[in-house]
Amino acid sequence: MMLLAVLPLTVCYFDLAGLPPSIHTAARDIAARIFHKAGVEIRWQEGRFGCAGVNQVTIRVIRNAPRRPVLEEGSVGLTTYARNGFSDQAMIFADRLDMVSWALLQSSATNFSGPSWLDFWRGVVLGASVAHELGHLLLGPGSHSKSGIMKAVPNLYTLMHTYHGWVRFDRAQEFRIQLEVLARLLADAGFDLPGQPLFRCDFSEGVS
Ligand SMILES: [Zn+2]
Repeated sequence: MMLLAVLPLTVCYFDLAGLPPSIHTAARDIAARIFHKAGVEIRWQEGRFGCAGVNQVTIRVIRNAPRRPVLEEGSVGLTTYARNGFSDQAMIFADRLDMVSWALLQSSATNFSGPSWLDFWRGVVLGASVAHELGHLLLGPGSHSKSGIMKAVPNLYTLMHTYHGWVRFDRAQEFRIQLEVLARLLADAGFDLPGQPLFRCDFSEGVS
């Protein structure tokens, strides 16, 4: 079910880990493609400082995962905290990104194996992780699913399918994402919606 054709969402995207720009380009293309299928147009904004609007979320790529909370094996990112009920920030950890990418290289039985493919995998894993974390920011608690981009820990085939554009949010998730973005747009426009926000994220959750 499609609520509207396309809804804009600003994603403030900061690289504090110093990854090669080509990895970010590949990752943002993958994430944008997944959200386009969900009816949301991502407007990337780069820099070093966070965003101020409700319909603006922040992704920070940082060097190392924290000691607390302890992330589960295979987890690359973390959705951390909320502001006024709207969760607005998530982090991706470059050390976890490299760990997963190397593991994929070593386990891959495809033509995408070997050290020269490391940056390819880093782009795919980062893109899937960005889309996944944005999903957590917009969908709220309990938003993992058994398949699709919200699968807790994607395997090789999920990531290959992500690269090919075959992995997305499920229909119900896409509808909820559109409602959430619409609520954020209305909040930014000054509307005080009853029961707002539609999906509260007033907790901390470790995510993959
Ligand atoms: Zn997750």
